[in-house]
Amino acid sequence: MGLPAVGFGWLAYVLWSLLAPIMSSASQVGAPALTAAVRAAAGMPGGMQHRLEEAFILANQTVEGVAACRELFAELDQPAERSLALTLYVPASGTQERRICSRGVAAFTAVGSRVTYLCRDFRRLAAPRATMTLVHEALHLAGLEEAPTHADALSSAEINDLVTSSCEL
Ligand SMILES: [Zn+2]
Repeated sequence: MGLPAVGFGWLAYVLWSLLAPIMSSASQVGAPALTAAVRAAAGMPGGMQHRLEEAFILANQTVEGVAACRELFAELDQPAERSLALTLYVPASGTQERRICSRGVAAFTAVGSRVTYLCRDFRRLAAPRATMTLVHEALHLAGLEEAPTHADALSSAEINDLVTSSCEL
């Protein structure tokens, strides 16, 4: 899910917490282990952290093991493991739940952003769907654009279908 008009006020809020993941993720790239960013998500609402950790490991295993899935990132000149490792997962705020999550999305970010917001419904996704969601959002970090914000890009649903098929999820 792309976010067309995200404010950047949150950048200052998260910058401090991004520094540690930047430093530690480099040594973990390629390993199906939890990054500092995922570990920092401890304290998320009930069930969400567990679902995130499980899906994060599966996403890393998938991009490592499925060539067509890895290729989605290669086409953007961004290694898949790096995009996953650099992502900071943050629970959506109450306002974001009302304005964005209520459209039926489980997570959202902005193109190029390292912050992926997780909606409450993320914790209820089956493991393959949660994994697909993390890969989808990681592709946005890698630079993948999305319609209708970007006219010639795939829609959110089309990206979901692409990830589901390419990554065999
Ligand atoms: Zn998207």
